[in-house]
Amino acid sequence: MRILYLVGDSRSGSTLLQHLLSLQPGVHALGELRRLGALARDGEPCACGAPLSECDFWTEVCGETPAQERTTERAPGGAAWRALLLREAAAIRGGLTPAGPLFRRRAHAAAAECFRLYEAVAKKTGAKLLIDNSKEPDHFLHMYASYPEHVAPVFHHRDGRGILWSKMRRTGKSASDAIQGYIWMQRLIETARRGVGLNRATELKYEDLCADPRTELERLLKPYEIPVETTDLGRLPDVRHDIGGSPTFKGSEKRDIKLDERWREALPPQALEEFERRAGRLNRFRGYRD
Ligand SMILES: [Zn+2]
Repeated sequence: MRILYLVGDSRSGSTLLQHLLSLQPGVHALGELRRLGALARDGEPCACGAPLSECDFWTEVCGETPAQERTTERAPGGAAWRALLLREAAAIRGGLTPAGPLFRRRAHAAAAECFRLYEAVAKKTGAKLLIDNSKEPDHFLHMYASYPEHVAPVFHHRDGRGILWSKMRRTGKSASDAIQGYIWMQRLIETARRGVGLNRATELKYEDLCADPRTELERLLKPYEIPVETTDLGRLPDVRHDIGGSPTFKGSEKRDIKLDERWREALPPQALEEFERRAGRLNRFRGYRD
């Protein structure tokens, strides 16, 4: 059993990637597994429509400990905790399991909880590759440091201006807050990339995936010897059990792969100017220039 863990900002198109991967033989998509416990406690639904705590799939997978009693992530601590992430990432790169705040007992327990769920889902579905769309760089580092033989990342990028526009539109955040969140998330992603070693960090751009999905999927799946059978999103099953993810993919409506670049027309000039000033360099570092 292997796990491809998608790491990236929210609103960066990782749900599209998750679904395209899930269409290939032997691949099963979990959605944002780290949120299982919290979403079940909040009464949120599974992609099948049932509340997570009542969904047949997750009820069977969770067995004696129901989803709402599971701790699948540890709430991050304060600023000091964040500052130490970098040092711990360096330890992970050196092949050590760090002993700092990232790896205190509770964080390790949450990683072990996720791993037990990976095993139960792999057993139930027969999948040899699971997709975890949890996205969080620090949660990923827990999983990677604890289970390096099983967990591998895909760092998922999108033009920051697209992320900014999508966040402002979906969450009603101000441009300033959304830009601040973007900058902070890029720092954490960079820490995680360095944690696995830059030469071992598999990257994917949302824009490249939309332009040539087959080539990008083949590149990601080659190490697992999984062929790409289809890129037709119309073949997504109506009943699925992935958790969280973009609201674009809720329900059973059929979809096409379509690059969303509405930000080019719709992003207010002031927001664009502020983004350029505060995050333009970061965005160019990711390869976004025009
Ligand atoms: Zn379900």
